[in-house]
Formats: sequence, C-alpha cells, structure tokens
Amino acid sequence: MRCEKNSPKAPRKLQFPPVSPSFAAVSFHPMSKPVCYSTKAFSAASASSPLSPATIERRKPTASDVQIQILYCGVCHSDLHFARNEWGFTEYPCVPGHEIVGRVTAVGSGVTKFKVGDTVGVGCLVDSCRTCPNCRAGLEQYCDNGMVMTYGSTDKHLGTPTLGGYAQSIVVTEDFVLRIPANLDLAAAAPLLCAGITTFSPMRHWKVGPGQKVGIVGLGGLGHMGVKFAHAFGAHVVLFTTSPGKAADARRLGAHEVVVSTDEAQMQAQAGSFDFILDAVAATHDINAYVNLLKRDANLVLVGAPGKPLAVAAFPLIFRRRSFSGSLIGGLPETQEMLDFCGAHNITSDIEMIRMDQINVAYERMLRSDVKYRFVIDMASLA
Ligand code: NAP
Ligand code: ZN
Ligand code: ZN
Repeated sequence: MRCEKNSPKAPRKLQFPPVSPSFAAVSFHPMSKPVCYSTKAFSAASASSPLSPATIERRKPTASDVQIQILYCGVCHSDLHFARNEWGFTEYPCVPGHEIVGRVTAVGSGVTKFKVGDTVGVGCLVDSCRTCPNCRAGLEQYCDNGMVMTYGSTDKHLGTPTLGGYAQSIVVTEDFVLRIPANLDLAAAAPLLCAGITTFSPMRHWKVGPGQKVGIVGLGGLGHMGVKFAHAFGAHVVLFTTSPGKAADARRLGAHEVVVSTDEAQMQAQAGSFDFILDAVAATHDINAYVNLLKRDANLVLVGAPGKPLAVAAFPLIFRRRSFSGSLIGGLPETQEMLDFCGAHNITSDIEMIRMDQINVAYERMLRSDVKYRFVIDMASLA
C-alpha cells in the first residue's frame, strides 16, 4: 500500500454506498502532492484472506490535519461485511476499523480545535463536500456529493482507497475529529464512534422518550448501545434476541422486557404494541415479524446492513399506516452531542478487549453472535 502522490492514474470513483447513483457518480481529484509516512496496520488481501500484518502509508499532516496515535479501535460488524466483500465494493488490500480513539501526536499549522496530547475520536467519516445542503445541516453522512468514509472511499488527498483504524496512526482533517469526554474509559468509549451514534441518531430523530414502548432487535454491538440509549431516554425498552442466554445481560443493560424472537407465542403477545423499533441485525431475517409489532403510524428503523435484501410484505405496512425506514450513522455535530451525552450520563460500551492478532477469531465469534458486547482492539498490541 504505497502513497501514490505522483501516480498518473485517473481519479477513482467513490463507491459507498453501492445503492445510491448520486454517490457513485462522484469522483475526487487528489488535491495536492502530500508527503507520506509509514505506519503498521492489519489488512485483508482478498475476501477470503484472514487479516494479517501490513505496512501502510498515510499523508503527513497538512495545515488542517490532526495526526492521531490510535490507542483503541472497536470491531464493528461492518468491518467484517467489508473485509469479506459482502457489500460487493471492497477494494483490496483493505484496512477496516472506524471506531477509533487515540491521542493527538501532531497538528497542522491551521488547526485550532486540537493540540498535541488531546484525547480524540474518529468515527465512520473522515471528510465530505461540506457545501451541499446535507453537509450544511450537519448531516455529512448524507452528503450529496459523496461522504468520505474512514475506509472504503477515495482519499481526497491521495486518490487511493481510504484505510481504517486497524493501524497505529491515522491523519484526519480537524473538522472530522471528535472530543472524548474526560470521564469516559477510553477503550469502552471507542464503540460510541459507530455503534453509539448509529443507535443514538435514529432515536433522537424519531423522538424516542418517556411513555413510549421501544423495541431493539439483536443484542450485539449496536443493539446493546440501543438498549442503553432507549433506557436513558426514558422509554420502556423491549429487547428482541435469538440468544436466550443474553436475557439477564439485556436487563442489566437497561431492557425492561426480553423477548426470544424465535418463540412464536412471545412474539404474538407483543403484536401491535410498539411506538418504535430499531432493528440492528447483521444477517437476513424476517422483517415482517417486527412490522407486525408496531402500533398504527409507528416506525421500524433498520440500521442493520445485511448484504442480501430483506423481503417486506405489503399488508402489515398498509393496514396500519406503519413505516419502515433506515438510518446511517450520524453527522459530526450529532456525534459530538452523543459523546457529550455519554459523558454526562456515564454511558460507554460493554467491551471485550483483544489483541490485534486475535481479530480473525473475533470475526468468527461475531458471526456466532458471541460478543459481549463489542470487541475493542488494544492497539498497543500492534507495536
Ligand atoms: P453484531 O455485534 O454482530 O450484532 C448483531 C446481532 O444481530 C447479533 O448479536 C445477534 O443478536 C443478531 N443476529 C445475528 N444474526 C442473526 C440472525 N440470523 N437472525 C436474527 N438475529 C441475528 O453486529 P453490529 O456491529 O451490532 O452491527 C449490526 C449491523 O448493523 C451490521 O449489519 C452492520 O454492518 C450494521 N451497521 C449499520 C450502521 C448504519 O449506519 N446503519 C452502522 C454500523 C453498523 P442476538 O444474539 O441478540 O439475536
Ligand atoms: Zn460500524
Ligand atoms: Zn456534502
């Protein structure tokens, strides 16, 4: 993975997400000829290769950049989808990782918000156009001209694929760097950068609060943060799980009820009773079973991103004017708001710390829904 500062190659196309023509149409021209440095990382060479040690190149900080020594990186199921090309647009070699917490080691001459030594975070976004209506509204994740994802997009400076946080360091423009509240455990805060904001944002948008019955589907990385936030927002929280053994944990995390979704009678008992359901399942599953649980005019929001389409039946939706919608991470202002909310309420992720060289085993455990409830890589293990 070399810094292609003098590469004559044509600018590459942005490819995430693959479903949106407006994203796919955009291309970036490398802005200048940055100088690069090497940093250690873990990368996948193909959809079927395990992740293994690699050396990658990052740009040296430009005037507006912050260089970050990565201390911890959470392991999102999106990392696995991406490393194994389950969404169909991965370019190899790839470096996943977008739940990054670290310490600032250098700042560009124009940086005003951060200084060397600050504890900071980087989530799923490292840049966007900043001028379209969505960017101006602080919804950079819906940028009309193509957000730059932490991995799997085209780096605006280098013209090569962006490489994520399974690495010793990263360089990010200061506007896409976040502050981590001082009272939060750094490792347990890392998953807030994706699992946290992805569950916080739709619940804020749909105004989840007291007096509402809220369902969270799947007790994984996203789901367990969904339970915590729904509880903190004052809702009555029901956790749906395929793993009966997670029931006690779900209650400890803030669920008032636990429903084993494979038990028909338990599901039937909940029919037509929910104001809002957040579905955070990483695999294909029967979405209609959850539409049936909504009240009239209530909403099921999908944040899970399985590679294969879900079949949605018409009648459960139209008979009670129910909605089925989606939500993608969150913009920079709301991500900072979520982090500050977590600081004020002492909310972090429940984590299992792993070494970098345990990542392939961690992926297999994630596929078996055997994570309590987010793996976080101790990046010192990559030294
Ligand atoms: P995860 O930690 O693996 O959790 C997924 C959970 O889904 C599992 O723990 C399991 O919970 C449940 N599950 C797994 N397979 C299932 C199946 N076949 N049927 C029913 N339930 C099943 O994954 P994650 O990191 O939370 O990510 C979840 C999904 O969200 C992924 O697809 C990821 O790519 C996506 N994602 C989307 C966004 C966004 O912006 N929209 C952001 C981040 C991640 P139980 O054991 O409780 O059943
Ligand atoms: Zn993620
Ligand atoms: Zn934009």
